[in-house]
Amino acid sequence: LFTAVEMAPRDPILGLNEQFVSDSNPNKVNLGVGVYFDDNGKLPLLQCVQAAEKTMMAQPTARGYLPIDGIVAYDNAVKALVFGADSDVVTSGRVSTVQAIGGTGGLKIGADFLKKVSPDAQVLISDPSWENHRAIFENAGFKVGNYAYYDAAKRAINFEGMLASLNAAAPGTIVVLHACCHNPTGYDITAAQWDQVIAAVKAKNLTAFLDMAYQGFGQGIAEDGAVIAKFVAAGLDILVSTSFSKSFSLYGERVGALSVVAASADEAKRVLSQLKIVIRTNYSNPPIHGGAVVAAVLTNPELRALWEKELGEMRVRIKAMRQKLVDGLKAAGVQQDMSFITTQVGMFSYSGLSKDQMVRLRSEFGVYGTDTGRMCVAALNSKNIDYVCQAIAKVI
Ligand code: PMP
Repeated sequence: LFTAVEMAPRDPILGLNEQFVSDSNPNKVNLGVGVYFDDNGKLPLLQCVQAAEKTMMAQPTARGYLPIDGIVAYDNAVKALVFGADSDVVTSGRVSTVQAIGGTGGLKIGADFLKKVSPDAQVLISDPSWENHRAIFENAGFKVGNYAYYDAAKRAINFEGMLASLNAAAPGTIVVLHACCHNPTGYDITAAQWDQVIAAVKAKNLTAFLDMAYQGFGQGIAEDGAVIAKFVAAGLDILVSTSFSKSFSLYGERVGALSVVAASADEAKRVLSQLKIVIRTNYSNPPIHGGAVVAAVLTNPELRALWEKELGEMRVRIKAMRQKLVDGLKAAGVQQDMSFITTQVGMFSYSGLSKDQMVRLRSEFGVYGTDTGRMCVAALNSKNIDYVCQAIAKVI
């Protein structure tokens, strides 16, 4: 039966991780995978999460099946977070939100649903984008192309090119947009540029699918979420995937969501019924624990405040590491202006290093980033930063 099955290529990032684990260099630093580590190089277990779990443990509950679309309180908390609890779009019942298995699950449910609604649409993702975007939409049966995004020579966003790509897209094209903290480049467009993107989406009758995997890591929870309100204010029907993997440091719990904004409450109900079929025929219903923790934190004022504080600390620490990287590279003798690192936001930096330089960083110094030059600045800390700066300076 399986004689003709070919070996699939290794996942580029997880493959890098395996290589890192087996590297015997005592100074090795993993800047490959997109995970936030604290200043001690440890994956944090947030206090708000621990407090919520403690309360849950004090009142143990049996584990029946969840509804297909997940925990009601969770879905409502996601709606409130992403759109605002009192926003017209939520109070008028135009948003359908389902709990999903991480942000990836939200994208997958959305992709499968869109394939039913617009089977012939093309999908456009940013050039470059998170690797899984292409794979998720191709596996859902779509043809996936790119819209211009990054200009490597200028180390900046090619915004003219981005708009030109959108304006050239056929009506109905699905455009996957990074709501904030673009992965892999770290470059976000400005609020004024978002207005132009929204105008193009509207004029060309495109479908915007906003991937929000890093809400709170850019400028702040509300600031990062503001782009969603802009799309809604423009009267657009959109899809939004949410991930709490990073913002709650709950990677392995797989907590995410998909929200779909429809034109009316009636339409939203019909959309929800279809989302439920996608879920039912994939994995039936989501797991309880991670969603229950996030719902408990988001709906309890004290825990919510604690979460905002802890998320703020992660955001501030990343920004400080960006500055230290720029300063440290200068001190290590790098002549070229590396200050672009501090204009980038979120967990990643497109360093501008070539594949050869990234390979040297790995083999000679045990500093792991992707071949594209992407480094996870959220894995830098006060102990490894000098070593990383020295290593980068030597390969530049
Ligand atoms: N979208 C983007 C842009 C991401 O970077 C990630 C995580 N690396 C995801 C979605 C998926 O998030 P999750 O781990 O919650 O599935």
